[in-house]
Amino acid sequence: MGWSDAQLVAVAQRTGRKVVQTWSPWNRGEMGQVLGVLLHHTGTPRNGLVSPSLRIVREGRSDLQNALCNYYIDKSGVIYCVTSKRAWHAGYGNCHGYTDANVNFLGIEAESDGQEWTEATRTSYYLLVGSILRATGKDQSWAPRHAEYALPPGRKIDFSGMDITLFRRDVETVRLGGFNLKTPEQLEEEELMAAKDDIIDGVVKALVTDQYDGRSLVAREVWRQNRSDLADPKSEISKRLNELVRNAVADALKGVQS
Ligand SMILES: [Zn+2]
Repeated sequence: MGWSDAQLVAVAQRTGRKVVQTWSPWNRGEMGQVLGVLLHHTGTPRNGLVSPSLRIVREGRSDLQNALCNYYIDKSGVIYCVTSKRAWHAGYGNCHGYTDANVNFLGIEAESDGQEWTEATRTSYYLLVGSILRATGKDQSWAPRHAEYALPPGRKIDFSGMDITLFRRDVETVRLGGFNLKTPEQLEEEELMAAKDDIIDGVVKALVTDQYDGRSLVAREVWRQNRSDLADPKSEISKRLNELVRNAVADALKGVQS
């Protein structure tokens, strides 16, 4: 059995990079056990866009009506979760005797014309490959470039255009745990902090609008959760609240004056 959507997302999130879920509308069947990952580049000609291939890798095209990868990385290093189902990225080849890699290998498409890479894309790429290999427990022989897998030899060239030895070294550091991936606990802590920010924003909105009557549920909730922190004017949460109030008041005054 392949990975669930949640597993696919979690493995990406451990990199600490920005992760976006943008699921393909196609479902061409479940994957088998995930053993490794195939490394591609999109080959899209250079242009000013950040994620020019996102639509095609998610929606496919008239002759390939399916997701064309499981993960996509854009030029700003954002990792997109495209499908946990079988994507069509591999074609015929061989890796450890597996000749239809779509079944047991995830596919990563990363944005590059095959000559130039942004540092952000490269960084997300080796972090993601390292994270996947840690999840599967396999070494890098299970993460071939498409060119190394595809048969007959020379059928594919991707990925190319960067120092592959250096890339492999960085993947290895991640795979062996030398470059820390985030633990589920760290991620939970970050989510909590983000939720706190949302609550504070809600309180500020309540404070600066006439909806605030001193019994606002949001305000009461933030007070309940952060009583000790809010009582301390030097705490991060107090500082942030003060800053938000100042900005909101300044904005409101601007509105009045203009
Ligand atoms: Zn490829």
